[in-house]
Amino acid sequence: CGTLYLVATPIGNLEDISLRALRILKEVDLVAAEDTRHSRKLFNHYGITTPLTSCFEHNEARKGERIVELLAQGRSVALISDAGTPAISDPGYLLVCRCRDEGLPVTVVPGPSAVITALALSGLPTARFAFEGFLPAKSSHRRALLAAARGETERTLVYYEAPHRLLAALADLREELGGERRVAVARELTKLHEELFRGTVEEALAHFGAGRVRGEIVLLVAPAEAEPERESLEEALARWHAAPECS
Ligand code: SAM
Repeated sequence: CGTLYLVATPIGNLEDISLRALRILKEVDLVAAEDTRHSRKLFNHYGITTPLTSCFEHNEARKGERIVELLAQGRSVALISDAGTPAISDPGYLLVCRCRDEGLPVTVVPGPSAVITALALSGLPTARFAFEGFLPAKSSHRRALLAAARGETERTLVYYEAPHRLLAALADLREELGGERRVAVARELTKLHEELFRGTVEEALAHFGAGRVRGEIVLLVAPAEAEPERESLEEALARWHAAPECS
């Protein structure tokens, strides 16, 4: 059998792609891409000439069958999305399930994903987090979802949001969690106009309310309780000295 490779691609900066990803994209028999025109730019940049076929949300089930047939015949296929890691708020899940059910080998070539990139950059607690995918477009649904975050005292919550809905989402956050809850907004990660805003919901409304919000957005909401006290330098050194030495 051939292998299905889930290959992560850049979320903005074309250089954010691993050597292994480039090799696999060149070596496989076929690359299934969310938008072939979009992926063509990446292919041209790196001189990749592997045949491309489309696999997007609305044809994933049908296309998946064809890909499963090819894998069963011994062909290798890579799945990529427009940006980041396939199957994370992108097509991939159905195909992975199908391959697993058929006993076909699946592996991953890890790389960028906006959720992890935004979390690392946010300055909000990272020890525990919950990725909530896209916030619902409808305010009543969004508010119901955000209300559930009221009692979230341990984990940072991470949402994908469309730029034209950011202000509405922040307004709903103020209604449900209050204006003092701490948030971060990561915009245009790894791109020329990368921005990380960190402050209260009220401050975010003032900051982004001033003009039209553009670009790709990740919204992060800090846990309800205050961030755990940061370890002082003295405490960190004491802990380090107390640790057993490596042999
Ligand atoms: N599979 C992708 C991943 O691994 O992150 C996510 C794809 S999802 C369809 C696209 C959403 O991811 C955008 O609407 C935005 O919320 C977020 N996103 C992707 N690239 C981003 C970037 N460069 N900066 C900020 N957010 C980004």
